[in-house]
Amino acid sequence: MNFFCRVLGHTWVPIADNPKTNWNVDKTGQLLTATPAGAVRFYDECARCKERREATVTRPRAGSSA
Ligand SMILES: [Zn+2]
Repeated sequence: MNFFCRVLGHTWVPIADNPKTNWNVDKTGQLLTATPAGAVRFYDECARCKERREATVTRPRAGSSA
């Protein structure tokens, strides 16, 4: 652990791990379809020592109207 982290505590910065989206044409060859490579993960990373922790806060999801 970083010295400053030990004294001051970690400085958590929220990070979103956004996987690539694969674009493919459909069977007709005229329409692009998006295939997400994986689910988006949210976690926190310390700005000093780069230690990571899973985000515990619930953030609003994109596209949810509720
Ligand atoms: Zn730290």
